[in-house]
Amino acid sequence: MNTVTRPRILVVGAGFAGVECVRRLERKLSPDEADVTLVTPFAYQLYLPLLPQVASGVLTPQSIAVSLRRSKKYRTRIIPGGAIGVDLKSKVCVVRTITDEIVNEPYDYIVLAPGSITRTFDIPGLTDHAFGMKTLAEAAYIRDHVISQLDLADASQDPVERASRLQFVVVGGGYAGTETAACLQRLTHAAVKRYPRLDPSLIKWHLIDIAPKLMPELGDKLGSSAQEILRRRGIEISLGTSIAKAGPEEVTFTDGRVIPTRTLIWTAGVVASPLIATLGAETVKGRLAVASEMNLPGEDGVFALGDSAAVPDLAKGDGAMCPPTAQHALRQGRHVADNVIASLRGQVLKPYVHKDLGLVVDLGGTDAVSKPLGIELRGLPAQAVARGYHWSALRTNVAKTRVMTNWLLNAVAGDDFVRTGFQARKAARLKDFEYSDAYLTPEQVREQVEGPRPQ
Ligand SMILES: Cc1cc2nc3c(=O)[nH]c(=O)nc-3n(C[C@H](O)[C@H](O)[C@H](O)COP(=O)(O)OP(=O)(O)OC[C@H]3O[C@@H](n4cnc5c(N)ncnc54)[C@H](O)[C@@H]3O)c2cc1C
Repeated sequence: MNTVTRPRILVVGAGFAGVECVRRLERKLSPDEADVTLVTPFAYQLYLPLLPQVASGVLTPQSIAVSLRRSKKYRTRIIPGGAIGVDLKSKVCVVRTITDEIVNEPYDYIVLAPGSITRTFDIPGLTDHAFGMKTLAEAAYIRDHVISQLDLADASQDPVERASRLQFVVVGGGYAGTETAACLQRLTHAAVKRYPRLDPSLIKWHLIDIAPKLMPELGDKLGSSAQEILRRRGIEISLGTSIAKAGPEEVTFTDGRVIPTRTLIWTAGVVASPLIATLGAETVKGRLAVASEMNLPGEDGVFALGDSAAVPDLAKGDGAMCPPTAQHALRQGRHVADNVIASLRGQVLKPYVHKDLGLVVDLGGTDAVSKPLGIELRGLPAQAVARGYHWSALRTNVAKTRVMTNWLLNAVAGDDFVRTGFQARKAARLKDFEYSDAYLTPEQVREQVEGPRPQ
């Protein structure tokens, strides 16, 4: 068959949503029906919910980086790079490859699943001094950074420097921030035993959030249990509080307290990938406003899903949109593939409906709180549900085996607290990890697609 006549389906992003979509397209479409292309900067699908366990060293980075090329059945063409703009009119996606070449990729159908980036605010010093928890590189970097604070504090003769190196601030009391603070506190608590010259009482973790509660989705009782666990471990929780100013050696809270610290981890929410703004289409809080079938109204062959799209939550109703969770993203991925196939074959598209299954929060060790299907669990049963859920959601058997082996090894042998130093000399700002400044403006996209205007 002539390849030119085959419709071209372009999927942007190899996360929960993108990979589920691609795998389903590969299964359900015959090779003659369409060409499938995936744009992704990395050669893996990242299992983000287990990122705090990479930061704390319970899991190795590779164990949650699930290969995109595991099977010979995978026939999708993969472009190694990031989409930096989409021109809806001419149906072209502009891609910057990993070698910094700019290429125009034409499509007939586009599925936008580039996820989200860390949401920041206009707080002095924030983007220069905070670390995020959204990429594998950030998790590995933070682990090295935290261990290096112990190393440097141990070597220092200056009590002021020691104190600032041994205080750590996490902003954001959602599940990502809470798990990050809990897992990293366990890391420093265990590691300090290998530093006989350090006074363990100097190590202090702060978890702060502007909201009045941690993880409000858990409900009052379970939320209080999570707080109780963290407080018992010595994590200081400050609610109704945020950051007024961040510097290299101290952070000022909005309640006036100045905390000497070299570690500010910012997990105060996410915002849709900047790719969405390049479309110049309607958005809801930055997410692309799509119909419940996940297509963009008024545009032929444009779909969006996951963290980057405002997909109506029909199970909740009342104009709600689906929360940015992996639970929704991967189900939307399968569903959008069916809808792309339906539009390719001239069939009717179906709306996406999914009732939330609940939440699992792994606080490290045997500490956890979970609310599967509305049932409140604490301690070991909650931990078994949390780990069982994540383990079964990993896409390949190899990834499952790696994660299980890591968990067992960590439970039996603990951590060696090795600082790799791989990224020690690299810039460590949010935008360096998340490439948030790599995108074009809608005008630049048009110019790139149409070529320079004649003088
Ligand atoms: C620390 C943490 C813990 C979490 N815990 C949970 C949990 O317990 N349960 C839960 O349901 N959810 C959890 N989430 C949220 C969940 O991970 C996200 O909602 C989910 O990953 C969204 O899926 P997605 O496919 O939309 O985006 P992602 O999974 O983020 O995938 C987006 C992909 O697109 C790629 N990409 C980005 N920009 C571009 C571009 N311009 N061009 C091409 N590719 C691009 C990225 O590299 C990535 O591979 C957690 C998130 C974090 C950060």
